[in-house]
Amino acid sequence: MKLLRLIANLGYGSRKDVKAMFREGRITDAQGEVLYADDAMTHAEVRIDGEPLDPPQGLVIALHKPVGYTCSHNDAGPLVYDLLPPRFLQRRPVLSSVGRLDRETSGLLLLTDDGALLHRIISPRHHVPKRYIATLAEELRGDEAARFAAGDLALKGEEQALAPAGFDALDARRARVTLTEGRYHQVRRMFAACGHHVEALHRESIGGLELDGLEAGTWTRLDADAVDAIF
Ligand code: URA
Repeated sequence: MKLLRLIANLGYGSRKDVKAMFREGRITDAQGEVLYADDAMTHAEVRIDGEPLDPPQGLVIALHKPVGYTCSHNDAGPLVYDLLPPRFLQRRPVLSSVGRLDRETSGLLLLTDDGALLHRIISPRHHVPKRYIATLAEELRGDEAARFAAGDLALKGEEQALAPAGFDALDARRARVTLTEGRYHQVRRMFAACGHHVEALHRESIGGLELDGLEAGTWTRLDADAVDAIF
């Protein structure tokens, strides 16, 4: 594929924008040799401003979602997608969040254009644990761990029984909850079914992947090893 098309398809800009990038000499090979729009090179050989290109497909992003952002493509905003470079939103196939976090929940959110990977992470069949820290309005009573483990909490509108959930009290009003499924507002609703109101909720990990010092509002691209660490 000609470079102009390859780069425009990755969302770096319109054909006009990308032509300008060529004219400015920003597009080079790995040795820094300037390339031209009609050159045909493999994806791995090309650099923009010295940086390798985003992958053609199979982009996986880990984002530290701040409170107040929604995981939607078409909401009034602010959206988690506003925290990413605009070129990621021009890509096809589109980048989607792997499950959702509520507007008021913070923490680790994955985004990808890889539908099979997305399904593997969210499907309860694959048992990828998601760990949350919940801060409650009232103190824990002591029966919550047994109730989460039994999976017998009645959530309104849910007919299928819940999978057992992990529960570790951290202090009087905070607990770590581990889920292997992702029903709508699940953590908040499980606590509500035990008579608790969740004041703050934060997801600290998905499988073996943690936020690892990522500041709220920032993101990083995951390479194949980091993606493997999820499972
Ligand atoms: N459970 C919730 O209640 N909210 C989330 O955002 C994630 C899990």
